[in-house]
Amino acid sequence: MNQPTLADEEIIVHLIKDFIEREGLFKKSDKKYSKVKKTRELIRRIQYMELSYGRVVDDIPQTIRDLVNYLKTQPISRYLPLLSQDLDIELQKEFALGRYNQLTPAILELITEDNAHEQIQKHIVALREKIIKSGKEEFYEICRFFFAAENNFETRNNLKRRMTKLKIPASWQDEIIQNFYVSVGNKKLSKEFCPYCGNPLTNEHLETSKVCRHFKQTDFFFKPITKSFNITEEVYCFDEKVVKSIVIPNIGEQRLRDLLLTIPGVIEVVMYPYFDSYDLKVVTKTRTFWIDVKDYQYPRSLAQYFAKEYKQAQKLLRPRQTDIRSEDVFLLIPKHRIEISSDRYLKRLRTNLENRNLSRIKVISEGDFIKLLKKEIKGDY
Ligand SMILES: [Zn+2]
Repeated sequence: MNQPTLADEEIIVHLIKDFIEREGLFKKSDKKYSKVKKTRELIRRIQYMELSYGRVVDDIPQTIRDLVNYLKTQPISRYLPLLSQDLDIELQKEFALGRYNQLTPAILELITEDNAHEQIQKHIVALREKIIKSGKEEFYEICRFFFAAENNFETRNNLKRRMTKLKIPASWQDEIIQNFYVSVGNKKLSKEFCPYCGNPLTNEHLETSKVCRHFKQTDFFFKPITKSFNITEEVYCFDEKVVKSIVIPNIGEQRLRDLLLTIPGVIEVVMYPYFDSYDLKVVTKTRTFWIDVKDYQYPRSLAQYFAKEYKQAQKLLRPRQTDIRSEDVFLLIPKHRIEISSDRYLKRLRTNLENRNLSRIKVISEGDFIKLLKKEIKGDY
């Protein structure tokens, strides 16, 4: 029997996620059949994993009940030895499921976020190409900002009206809707939406979305957005991946830009310079910084993203543009991310980058970057 590979382990993680997750509010429900099929597949894969490590047949789950019990009593390092190497020792001992059949932080950390980012990145790249061709760099910022909370859960007409107002060419509009939105059908809705990410504001939303709760508690407080729709109108909401890779980061980046502009001696802050090669360009009298802001929930996923996307890593290590010195390029982790994750986020990110031979990427927290910037401005080295 072949030794299981990393890919085998990744499939198990995703099957566990599918097995346990409830349907989202508007998501098309999985056909029951495929759910059952996936559960069987999960049992089969765990059996294979156990057998290939030479374990006793009695220990191996056969039924759904066994499976639940197994996921609640066996440490993940038992059947995911390769993946769990990236985790802290105490997380390696954790089970996949908690007392109430919820996914534990340990297993959640193994669910990579980068697939979602990758797909939406493709659409962003396509949009960027259009903008480059049009020769109007300012469209880039406009389009990024368009994906703000108030443009979620809207009718096609309203979306187009808003785009037209921002002078986004009419010929791009359908494609933008097609690539970044999904239809949720024609529902009669009069609902409140989260002012941060634009998702429906349920009772638990601000509890379950750590990021939105954080924004609510700290610098920003926005009122919920209320919208009503007619029963005959088709309503469009963001593709979930847009919330994750555009909307939430935008809140953080805008806030950071505003904050940086309050520091005396900061001459200019440009968002998405070189058509989004970086997130921020920060200019002082003596030095220009190029900042890539990355807001991943788990350090492991972020390190994996750079390992997979060589171009992105290269951008931080050896910039293509001749006016960018590599010592001025930083990977910045926003304040809210460090505050809502553990205080070891940065340490774990650095370890994960080292494990992938990417230790030369300069990781900096928002707080430390501000200190560095102030030092530069004062000129005391
Ligand atoms: Zn939200």
